[in-house]
Order: sequence, then structure tokens, then C-alpha cells
Amino acid sequence: MKKAANKTTAKKVAPKYIFVVGGVMSGVGKGVASSSIATVLQARGHKVTAMKIDPYINVDAGTMNPTEHGEVFVLKDGLETDQDMGNYERFLNTDLPRINYMTTGSVYLSVIEKERNLEYKGKNVEVVPDIPLEVIRRIKEAGETAGADVVQIEVGGTVGEYQNVLFLEAIRMMKSDQPDDVAVVMVSYLPVPGSIGEMKTKPTQTAVRMLNNAGVFADMIVCRSPIGVDIKRKEKIAKFCNVKVENVISAPDVESIYDIPLNYEEDKLSFQLSGILNLPNKKSTDLKEWKKFVSRSKSVTVPVKIAVVGKYFNSGDFILSDVYLSVLEAIKYSAYKLNLKPEISYLSAQEFSDKKQLKKLKDYDGILVPGGFGLTGIDGKLNVIEYARKNKIPYFGICYGMQLMVLEYAQNVAKLKNASTAEIDAKAEHLVIGIMDEQKEKLAQKNMGGSMRLGQYPAKLTKGSVAAKAYKAELIEERHRHRYEVNPDYVPLLTEKGLRFSGVSPDGTLMEIAELPKEEHPFFVGVQFHPELKARPLDPHPLFTAFIKTAYEAD
Ligand code: GLN
Repeated sequence: MKKAANKTTAKKVAPKYIFVVGGVMSGVGKGVASSSIATVLQARGHKVTAMKIDPYINVDAGTMNPTEHGEVFVLKDGLETDQDMGNYERFLNTDLPRINYMTTGSVYLSVIEKERNLEYKGKNVEVVPDIPLEVIRRIKEAGETAGADVVQIEVGGTVGEYQNVLFLEAIRMMKSDQPDDVAVVMVSYLPVPGSIGEMKTKPTQTAVRMLNNAGVFADMIVCRSPIGVDIKRKEKIAKFCNVKVENVISAPDVESIYDIPLNYEEDKLSFQLSGILNLPNKKSTDLKEWKKFVSRSKSVTVPVKIAVVGKYFNSGDFILSDVYLSVLEAIKYSAYKLNLKPEISYLSAQEFSDKKQLKKLKDYDGILVPGGFGLTGIDGKLNVIEYARKNKIPYFGICYGMQLMVLEYAQNVAKLKNASTAEIDAKAEHLVIGIMDEQKEKLAQKNMGGSMRLGQYPAKLTKGSVAAKAYKAELIEERHRHRYEVNPDYVPLLTEKGLRFSGVSPDGTLMEIAELPKEEHPFFVGVQFHPELKARPLDPHPLFTAFIKTAYEAD
């Protein structure tokens, strides 16, 4: 009895807050650096939650073109976020809620909505302090929601940018209110110019001064650089940036992003950070499972070759694989689990509108068509799917990749001429992929932001199907992001022609998984949802694992 009473009356200690800001330039991997910091603290036994602040006016990441901003990551509760949230979920092996992500647009929107509701009770509502106060309110709510000991907040952009000034002000205000509970980590960059061959610290010193101008002082500097930082430069940074030399952390380029937490621990990052925040020293870092994963990922030698056929790869002279980041990571985790070396090729769908190019696909063990939108590349994708079906190459279609798989089947097997998807040709004779009723209204009202079918929904699986065998379950929950769906009117015909809808919404109206039986094809599976969003390094996704396994085993 006494114990129970203690439990309910025990006062929860207020969480500590770690802000991660970027110095010098973007693109140095601040997101993975932040994920790694959170990971080593978690491995020390702290309950950590991770947040991301994006400086955009976009209310969420759903309206940003993936070629500009990379993949849109969908949280379990349906918020469309930046891919860094995906890194956090993967590194921490946890689901994060929508309160953990904010943009400038979303913060302003709630302040303006409150103002309209008279919640400011007639007072002037001002950029400062009301915007930073809303940021702080959200940070605290995220901490409470997670019951966290440590809330880590990554501030997007680079110090010195006009766009993140209000977030720096939020840090300053929090630190002045709770000086012992707030730490600031700057992830900076130390170039080694080819012409001199020496690592330069000056840009970092300048970045720290800019941070100081905003009234914020760094407690720790994580030094991204091509090579490790030597003691001489650490001392220089410590002296000119007002941090202890132990709090200058070397973060050289690494072979794999999963090496980063291990590297940080070599410089005792979690120990130092726990010291700065006076966190109870629970235990030493336990990264056993993580280490096992990393060493396995490096020891695999037997290749499995997967072609990912997408439309967002080409941007000028560059290939943008980040657009499908979660898919690529999901493939890797399953391959490692199977002791295989994933060799992933990014193929542009557009090139396959010329059927002569299809023979290139012979070299691959498996083909994956990820999610997508609109007309570009659709002919190429349909040709690729037809080729995979006829040549019995394992095929995995995700979202658009499933809709097009069903469409290809309707056109070429069910012989429905003029079959299409409402997304491309709403007047087509056979709308095999139609629009969901509630979506029709949204489109008519031009209500495009955050209005797709988003987040986690359950699906029932058919016993004995390829999908049910992979999941070893009959009820699953997966995350969605789509407006269109398989038109239920065509389900009887397609089923009669051999396609199996082995996963459906509990009310039976939405087709969530389509597949060909094992006797027809080694693996021909399409899913309306995004399984990649739930794949984790320490917990690979069963459908990806089934796909990769068949790809490796099939002739
Ligand atoms: N464009 C399709 C839809 O809106 C598929 C979306 C996706 O692949 N994420 O339904």
C-alpha cells in the first residue's frame, strides 16, 4: 500500500531541455547529429523525446515538393513532417506525436487562431514575446506528453539566418527562466580547404559569436569535419568559443550514419551533456544492440540488387535519393537482418516509357515502385510493373506503386481499355483508381494542406496470404498518405481475374493490399500505405523483409 501511495505522490522532476542549433552552413547532417545525441542519452537510461523546429512558413511539410525538401515523413497521428522526424523515430526506435514538430507557419497559425478566439483577452499580441512563448509552450507540452526526462529540440536552419531568430529568442527566454535546465549544442562545420590542407576553426568562432549576439551561449560544440578534430584545435575552439575543451566533440565524416552515436561516445558526449545538465547519472551508455546492428551492416557481403523506380530522382545534374530516404533505409534494415548486402539502384521512371529500356531490369533481384503523385513517369512505371509481373521479378509497390500495379492489372489482364486513375484522368471510362468521397469535397474546396488520408489506420489481412504470412498477423496498423484508392466497383472483376486484395480496412471498403498468389508470382505485392515509415534499424519491417528475402531467393 505504502509503495502505491509513494508512486502517486512522487513528484516528477521537471525535464531538461537540449537545443541543437546549426553553425557555419547547412547540409552537414544536423538532423542525424541530433538523432545521435538523443540516442546516446537514451542509451544512458534517460527518457528522451526529440523535437524539430522548421523555419518555413508552410504549416507542415506536406505542401513542400520533395525535390526541394526531401521526403515527407508522416507521423502515426497523421502530421506530415520533415524527414528528420523519421531519423528520430528510427534512431530512438519510438513513435513521436505531432506536438514534437513545428514550423514557423504552424506557430503563427496557432497564435493568430488564439487571438481570434480572444484568448489573449484584449492585449496586444506581439511577435516578441508571443511567438517564442508559443514555441516554449509546445516544447513543454511535448515534454509532458512523452513524460520525458530530456526534451531535445533541433532548430532548423543555421545561426545568423533571419528565419530562426524567434526560435533563438525562445531558447534565450527558457534559459533565463530555467538556467539549470537548458543546454545548447551547436553543430558546426570545420572545413579543411584543399589548398592549405589544414582544419580551420574561424568559421565556427564566427558562428558562435552570432549565436551570442542573440543572447544564447553554446555549452557544447559538435565539430563536423572531413576528419577528426585534434586536441590543438579543440583547445582553440574551447578558448575562443567559451566552452570547456571536454565539450568540444569531434564528429568526422563516417562511412555510415549509424556510426555517429558510437563516435560521439568516444568523446564521452552523453557523459559530458549529462554533467552540463546535472542529469542523474543512471548508468553508462548501453549501445550493445546498436553496435551489433552496425557491425552486421558492415560485415554483409552477399549482394541483393534492388531497383527503386521513382520520378523524383533527377534534379539538374544531381540524383536526389533523399526523397525516398525511408524506403532506402527500410530496404537496408531488412537486408542486414537477412545477412545480405543491399545494392540499391535509383532508376528514373521516365526512361522506361521506352519499352526497349526494360531489359535493364533483368539485372535486378527485385523492383520497388515507391509513392508518388501526378502524371510524370506514370507510363514508365506501368511498363516496369508489367515487366516485373510477366518476368516474375519480385515486385513491391508502395502507395502510388500499388495503385499503378492495380491499374496495370486492369489494363493488361482484365483488358479494361481506357482504365485510369482519377488523379490523371477523372473522365476515363474505367476509373479503377477512384477518389475517396471525403477527398472529393476537399479538392473542390481547394483544401490541399494536411487533408489527405493521413496517419495510422488498421487493416485486416486474409489468412494464408503473402501479406499475412509476412506479418505473421491478421490485423495490422500502418501509416497512410493518399487521396485516391482502389475503386471498390472493380474489385469483383479484378479478383475474378486473379488479383487478391489481401488487406482491407476493417469495414471492408478500402483495399489496403493487393497481391498475386505465391503460385502465380514469387512476390507481387502492393500496399496502399507506407510501411517504410515504420521500419527501424533494430526492428526491420516484415513486408520489406519478405520482399528482400524473396528477391534474394527467386531465380
Ligand atoms: N498520388 C496517390 C494518391 O494521392 C498516391 C500517394 C502516394 O503515393 N503517397 O492517392
